[in-house]
Amino acid sequence: MNAEKLLEKMHGLKSIFDEKESELTGLDREIGDGDHGVNMKRGFSAVNDKVSAGSTQDILKQTGMTLMSSIGGASGPLYGFSFVKMSEVAKEEIDGENLLEMLEVFDRTVAEKGKVEGGEKTMYDVISKSADLLRDKGSLSLEDLQQLAEETKDMIATKGRAAYFKEQSKGTIDPGAQSAVYIIHALGEGVE
Ligand code: ADP
Ligand code: MG
Ligand code: MG
Repeated sequence: MNAEKLLEKMHGLKSIFDEKESELTGLDREIGDGDHGVNMKRGFSAVNDKVSAGSTQDILKQTGMTLMSSIGGASGPLYGFSFVKMSEVAKEEIDGENLLEMLEVFDRTVAEKGKVEGGEKTMYDVISKSADLLRDKGSLSLEDLQQLAEETKDMIATKGRAAYFKEQSKGTIDPGAQSAVYIIHALGEGVE
């Protein structure tokens, strides 16, 4: 994937999140404050408007900065900072090996910034397992990523707003885990 293709993907996430707004908001209404769909839609709409051509590193950094400044919720700084950190390891031509490095950085950044571990019912449950998925299967299918999000259903949230719901957070997919599916799927599409 070169810079042109990466930019296309970052812009393309606007239509993905336009389409998924109600799904994500519905999940966040169950175990949060019902704004995750709006947050992601606002974030990637700003990315579509503001992020323009440059190197792969420029595009990822601009995407991160834009997400940080346009999403108010917990997800804004986590996704935003992760894109900034991923920009630091991105090569001009992002191949499977480089994507693996980026996903490892994504993992470390969310773990550190969110002070989160696996099994706490967050976006981290999808992000942290995606590098293994890519390593094992050689690609990131929507089905496999979705399976990781489904696994958050049985978890009890101990981070973010969902933690206030304690046991009642069980039975719903974590909204951030669901949005992470779309972001990681987009990053992985067509990368070999
Ligand atoms: P807010 O919770 O502030 O309304 P969003 O609704 O946009 O923000 O994002 C909620 C998502 O953020 C959750 O579903 C969860 O995946 C993620 N999240 C919240 N806190 C953390 C954390 N400490 N570590 C990792 N992910 C988190
Ligand atoms: Mg929310
Ligand atoms: Mg909120």
